[in-house]
Amino acid sequence: MKTSIITITLLSLALTGCTTTPLGTINDNGTGYTVDKEACQRLGIDYDSVDRHERGHLAGLYHCSDRNCLMYKTIYPGEIKTKLCMMCLLKSKGVLSANNK
Ligand SMILES: [Zn+2]
Ligand SMILES: [Zn+2]
Repeated sequence: MKTSIITITLLSLALTGCTTTPLGTINDNGTGYTVDKEACQRLGIDYDSVDRHERGHLAGLYHCSDRNCLMYKTIYPGEIKTKLCMMCLLKSKGVLSANNK
């Protein structure tokens, strides 16, 4: 693969507007997602964390300002994110509206 990391990042930003996970892309119709496993490994970013993050988007969640939250816009190399913050948890359960960004 000759595609540079920067290209991948910019491309997926353009496609999804998801600044967190340039490695994950939500399908146009919103029914599924793909995660670039190879790029994750190359960058040292935890694939499962990205996977969980994208699933959060599918569940209707937007990016979160809580640095420790799974839905924070960035997953850094070496980080393992497993948990939603309380706000996101409530949104994912439909307790709070997920539509107010
Ligand atoms: Zn995201
Ligand atoms: Zn959150």
